[in-house]
Amino acid sequence: MKISSIEGFPRELVPVELPPHTVMLRGIAWDSNIYLVRDGDEALIIDTGTGVNWHVYTKIWEREGHLNGVKKAFIFNTHEHFDHVGGNRPLKGWLERKGIEALFAAHETTAKTLEKGDDYVILAYSYGRRFEPQKVELKLKEGDKLRIGSLELELIHTPGHTTGSSCLYLDDGETRIMFTGDTVFKGTVGRTDLPTGNGRELRESIEKLSDFEVDFGLPGHGRYIDNWKGNLTKILGWLP
Ligand SMILES: [Zn+2]
Repeated sequence: MKISSIEGFPRELVPVELPPHTVMLRGIAWDSNIYLVRDGDEALIIDTGTGVNWHVYTKIWEREGHLNGVKKAFIFNTHEHFDHVGGNRPLKGWLERKGIEALFAAHETTAKTLEKGDDYVILAYSYGRRFEPQKVELKLKEGDKLRIGSLELELIHTPGHTTGSSCLYLDDGETRIMFTGDTVFKGTVGRTDLPTGNGRELRESIEKLSDFEVDFGLPGHGRYIDNWKGNLTKILGWLP
């Protein structure tokens, strides 16, 4: 779920290219941000929005040739909320029509929720939509690695916003990126009052994230986080 303090839109939908190998698309309206990591003939899409605007995002990728030559793509969800998973099916369909093998990946807890189609947690109804249960091919645990070409992304389990919430850490030896979902944003954190949310767990997760060296924090909503340690220290100062 989006939180109200994140600055909204309108704004121009321009892909932001970040090292290493990452393209950020700011989510339209209620959509989560959508990230694309690419190396060689493999790609990773991180979160998919509500599914209402998927054709806008794919048009940008088409225009920029971001997926040209890609043969296999993973679609990873940082957590179970509908504004991050609603575009899963249409994006998978689009990839397959382009001849790209598409596989879903998520933390095992998020995977279980998506496979059950558990709307108590997914909250599709609050967007006036339904979430059809889907198979998640790759169920990940703390410390597991997702390999995209020569890149390795490590799963960091960060419960608090939801029990399945996870971050992905990418370090190519030069630049360190943390994809944070709704666990942490620039200046604030994800809400903990929704089903499976837990304030104590969120604080522990933020403390855990503080141990990482990060050049860009890439959240599920809003702008990227450019001062990782400063951002988290400030948050830990007021977080219960
Ligand atoms: Zn959320």
